[in-house]
Amino acid sequence: MPRQAYVNGRFVPHRAASVHIEDRGYQFSDGIYEVVPVYKGIVVDEDLHLDRLDRSLGELRIDRPCSRPALKILTRELIRRNGLTNGLVYMQVTRGVAPRDHKFPKGAKPALVMTTRQVKPHSEAMLNEGLKVITIPDQRWARRDIKSISLLPNVLGKQAAAEAGAYEAWQLDADGMVTEGTSSNAWIVTDDNKVITRAASHAILNGITRISLIKLIEANGYRFEERAFSVAEAKAAREAFLTSSSSFVLPVTQIDEVAIGNGHAGLLTGKIRTHYMDYMESLGAAS
Ligand code: PLP
Repeated sequence: MPRQAYVNGRFVPHRAASVHIEDRGYQFSDGIYEVVPVYKGIVVDEDLHLDRLDRSLGELRIDRPCSRPALKILTRELIRRNGLTNGLVYMQVTRGVAPRDHKFPKGAKPALVMTTRQVKPHSEAMLNEGLKVITIPDQRWARRDIKSISLLPNVLGKQAAAEAGAYEAWQLDADGMVTEGTSSNAWIVTDDNKVITRAASHAILNGITRISLIKLIEANGYRFEERAFSVAEAKAAREAFLTSSSSFVLPVTQIDEVAIGNGHAGLLTGKIRTHYMDYMESLGAAS
């Protein structure tokens, strides 16, 4: 069966899916999105993702396109139609279609688009050898906590990473402190085995993987602190890793030209990744 998308009330073949040229997402980036992982057929942390979707909509004063139960039904139906077992559900809500005018249009209906994508498991080499990240200035707006579809600095940052042979770019605020990656949260492990990640604020997107991982780190008795860390501290850290709905937990073993720790994936990072994978397995067992 050809891959399908959901567009404003209809399931359509993915290759034929389209929105109007005056959709405000297309013209103004006036919209928000979510990326929800599907692992072994289970929608991971669905309510946390939908809480964040509601929050992003609320911050931008965009109406909900449908109720949460309806969104869950649409998600399951799209997963079923696309035979998705491991991958991602992308959902995007814009303020809708209206003649181009910056201020909010009267009476526009929010537009909902959903797609799915399969994701291959991460290779053993990636898990053992880890990834390179580069560092770049954080050039984004001041409300990075909103999962806005306005992603130009993230796009440019990820492209810079790709051109440098890196997986991700860690963004630095004006004080040289790491905010986060272009599509992931940033973490380090200190010499005394404390796990550090920046506290949630307007400066970063509060990753759902981040939220679940903090619970697991605390439940398993690891030392943990939410605070900003500098690029210098990151380069001198014992271990580093990143988290996101598509990466889960992936080791970082090089920042710019500096090897992290012994240059191989960190021991604690590996344990933390295992806790996260076990957590996702447990969701399947519980359903
Ligand atoms: N930070 C940014 C800027 C992101 O775009 C993402 C995910 O796309 C994340 C962090 C990680 O969030 P999550 O764990 O919810 O995927």
